[in-house]
Amino acid sequence: MKRAILSLCIASALTACEIIPKDKTKQDTTTAIAGTSTLASSRLPTDSADTLRGVPAIPPESATMAPARDSGVVTMFPETPRRGGVVWILAEGFFPDAPHCTWKGAVLPCYRTSSGVQAIVPLSPDAPAGTYGFTIDRPTGRLTRQIVVAERDFGRELIFLDSTRYALVKRTSDISRDSRALRPVLRAESLEQRWSGEWRSLLVRGSKSSAYGVERFYFPASDSSRSVTVASSLKVRGSFGADTITSAATDAPGWRHAGVDIAMARRTLLRAPAAALVADVGDYTLSGKTLILDHGQGVVSAYFHLDTVLVRRGELVARADQIARAGSTGLSTGPHLHFGIYVHGEDVDPAAWAEMPKFAREVVKRP
Ligand SMILES: [Zn+2]
Repeated sequence: MKRAILSLCIASALTACEIIPKDKTKQDTTTAIAGTSTLASSRLPTDSADTLRGVPAIPPESATMAPARDSGVVTMFPETPRRGGVVWILAEGFFPDAPHCTWKGAVLPCYRTSSGVQAIVPLSPDAPAGTYGFTIDRPTGRLTRQIVVAERDFGRELIFLDSTRYALVKRTSDISRDSRALRPVLRAESLEQRWSGEWRSLLVRGSKSSAYGVERFYFPASDSSRSVTVASSLKVRGSFGADTITSAATDAPGWRHAGVDIAMARRTLLRAPAAALVADVGDYTLSGKTLILDHGQGVVSAYFHLDTVLVRRGELVARADQIARAGSTGLSTGPHLHFGIYVHGEDVDPAAWAEMPKFAREVVKRP
């Protein structure tokens, strides 16, 4: 079965590799969140105040120090995050204006809301599965949570390109220059949360989409007649459109697929999934005509291989505004949209992003 999928992917190259069933995308996760909140708010400072699967109770030392007005409730979603996914965290209670959060011991940007502090943790596909610590400081002490990140196999593909397209992946100095320009844009960390409400889906009904995170190795079409193998020990370490080639151990350039490819007709009109500032409009070696939207607070969306961009850098767009038309520019073998989501500069699975819980859809208001 896997073999069949692989050959389909090779045949269709960059366009369509996997169908994302519509019912896989949860439309509303309110129920799950409500349940979590109820669990978490059951009396502190008892033993297992929040019994989210895989998440230990609030450490007794910080719980006992909590003042009466600080409920100490920490809501996390989803229950079982995986590599390449994202975790939304809402800590309710009293916090300073500039809250301090950490993830894996490093500072993670987090923001005040009307009810506490919200943090969004990107689970890089480049990091192994495991249990990692998240902390948030309050005047009364530090809250600590352990987050269990589950394993996920992203798979790999060998892609054979005609000579024109293969020449693109060999333009290493251009690709380096592009990544130097794009990296800071993808890492934008603007204070204001621009989105509110549910994000619009970019999936076209019935269209095929290729998977996020897959490791892709590129070969010239002339190689397709010989037997090509890629050692299982070989790993890509960069992401498509944002990094230079890092698979130096072989001649085959490779990147991890940092978004999803959605097959659609050329010049299909694209609309903004959520309100944003237009952070970049450019024409790059691999991503072709490119649009980057900054949704605020470290959340950025990217649109590659476009035919036309309909907005200008610095412009503010509202949800559902027309932003671009799909195309096949850059390293692309047929019309499709490459759609990416970045959180604090790390690419995450757009399908995981679409599961955003209700509490994260609300505008973060500073009290
Ligand atoms: Zn793509």
